[in-house]
Amino acid sequence: MGDGHNFRQLKEAILAHSQAQDWEIARKEWSLVRVATADEPETCPCGHFPILEICTIANQITGHRIDVGNRCVKRFLGVRSDLIFAAIKRIQSNIEKSLNGDAIVFFHQCGVLNNWEYSFLQDTMRLRQLTLAQKVKRQSINEKVIAAVAKRGFHG
Ligand SMILES: [Zn+2]
Repeated sequence: MGDGHNFRQLKEAILAHSQAQDWEIARKEWSLVRVATADEPETCPCGHFPILEICTIANQITGHRIDVGNRCVKRFLGVRSDLIFAAIKRIQSNIEKSLNGDAIVFFHQCGVLNNWEYSFLQDTMRLRQLTLAQKVKRQSINEKVIAAVAKRGFHG
């Protein structure tokens, strides 16, 4: 890729922690389970430095976890983690704002949002005017999401 992203090196790291040894099968064992903002810049297994928006991917069979950057998650899993981080920044700067679709789906999948909250956020995402009750609810859900995206130290 010419910009410090060595996909072959990433592949080797992923395969070393996968059960399947065929790349096309092995990649399906993985999913995005956590996003976090690093206090200290980290290095992606592809060799790219620095990464500050850390995506933890987990292998459903071996249980192994690996931290990678946004670019590799998109390339490897097709997940737009950059849009999830954009949504987090948006609600961090204004707690009344809405999360976007990518963030809503991700936080529901990883168990931060329950089914009711998942539907509520979809129903109110594009509304220009919220009732007071809806505003209060959205704000408390946003606070829960921000708390879930825990900051972490350099030792992981
Ligand atoms: Zn990478």
